[in-house]
Amino acid sequence: MVLYAQVNHPQATAVSNKGSADIHNAATVIPRPDHPISRVNISPNALKVLYRLKDSGYQAHLVGGGVRDLLLGREPKDFDIATDAHPEDVRRLFRNCRLIGRRFRLAHVVYGREVIEVATFRAVHEAGANNSVQHIDEEGRIVRDNVYGDIEGDAFRRDFTVNALYYNIADFSIIDYTAGMADIEAGLLRLIGDPDTRYREDPVRMLRVVRFATKLGFRLEAATEEPITRLAPLLGDIPPARLFDEMLKLFMGGSALANFEILRHYNLFRQLFPLTDESLAHEGNFFQALVTRGMENTDARIAQGKPVTPAFLFAVFLWQPVQERAAQLEAAGEHSVQALQHAGSQIISEQAAVMATPRRFSLPMREIWMLQLRLENKGGRRSQRVLSHPRFRAAYDFLLLRAEAGEVPTELGDWWTQLQEDNPQEQAQKTTHARPRKRRRRRSKSKSEVKSE
Ligand code: ATP
Ligand code: MG
Repeated sequence: MVLYAQVNHPQATAVSNKGSADIHNAATVIPRPDHPISRVNISPNALKVLYRLKDSGYQAHLVGGGVRDLLLGREPKDFDIATDAHPEDVRRLFRNCRLIGRRFRLAHVVYGREVIEVATFRAVHEAGANNSVQHIDEEGRIVRDNVYGDIEGDAFRRDFTVNALYYNIADFSIIDYTAGMADIEAGLLRLIGDPDTRYREDPVRMLRVVRFATKLGFRLEAATEEPITRLAPLLGDIPPARLFDEMLKLFMGGSALANFEILRHYNLFRQLFPLTDESLAHEGNFFQALVTRGMENTDARIAQGKPVTPAFLFAVFLWQPVQERAAQLEAAGEHSVQALQHAGSQIISEQAAVMATPRRFSLPMREIWMLQLRLENKGGRRSQRVLSHPRFRAAYDFLLLRAEAGEVPTELGDWWTQLQEDNPQEQAQKTTHARPRKRRRRRSKSKSEVKSE
């Protein structure tokens, strides 16, 4: 934020920002001495790509989040490049280049673990234009977005003004078509063009604005904020896999709780987790506390550099819906283990209809839930064995959250904490004498027992 002061940008407010159709503004060019972006802060690999493109006669700019974050004195997550070179041209220039993308083709230049994304300038969409480059569906959504254009069009098809600044490697200036510099200085998120149209084109922008507000500490400009609650249901048409990706960025980026609160405020959360939202609406239960603590827990782990998995947070978000469903199934005569298992499957598939959840996450979720039954039964014969279950740690953390939220007694969590600290003899004593051993006929395990382990 300190860096704002160094930005000398007197003409910024003179640039009009009326709409995506109004694309013939002159750009404001901010020369190197008047902005704080230094090559020292740009990844050497990104610089390499920029220079090679330029030296081969192409335009080459750093763009998007990289420029925005550098201006704010933050470390960019990645560096994206925009150029007039076509993907095939880029591939010719870089041996370490692969072309990706179906919706639009992009070049990835790969340096070990660092990937520099190089995108060809794309043209702006003229909503409502009835011609051959019409790629908008009945809801106003963009369905194809692969028409090459020039830098000006490229700037206006971006989402927010602060994301549409170009750092030009030819003279180290910043090119600003949308008055993005002024919004960086003011800490404002402003959609480029008519907000209603831009959200309809791509409803995911409603989720992006929330994420950026939290991440950057920016406010939403009034016209950018106004349509959100009204248009939130349009997220229902977004492919579940894309929603899952956005969910990861919102909830696995270290600011889950802050994002959750804003998402709820704009009625966006229910578009992502309708079952959770419905359970949260019931009053007087522990679930709000569980959800809040689950997110605090995830955020704290990320802050400490510890590993996190969406499976845990998903298990938290869907716990109450699963339990409500299990109670219904039990009332209809199912055994408790089976009821929980069936409820888990049903809730997972209902959630998957909204948001695609890969099996590597849904399987652990189920295990965390099923293990709760075994953890609730402290001192059971198999307690000691649960300790070595691969999902024990996550299930135990989950149990502690439930205890903190007041759903189960604190002593239950304490008992498991103590059991882990005990030596094996003590463990055996606590667990083998709890119930008298019955002689049982050997039998093979039923399907449900195997699954619940
Ligand atoms: P982050 O720090 O999260 O990477 P970012 O701004 O770089 O933020 P990306 O998703 O990496 O976000 O996208 C890069 C750039 O592409 C954005 O800055 C924006 O200019 C443009 N962009 C991305 N998604 C959209 C979208 N849905 N609509 C319009 N422009 C978009
Ligand atoms: Mg980015």
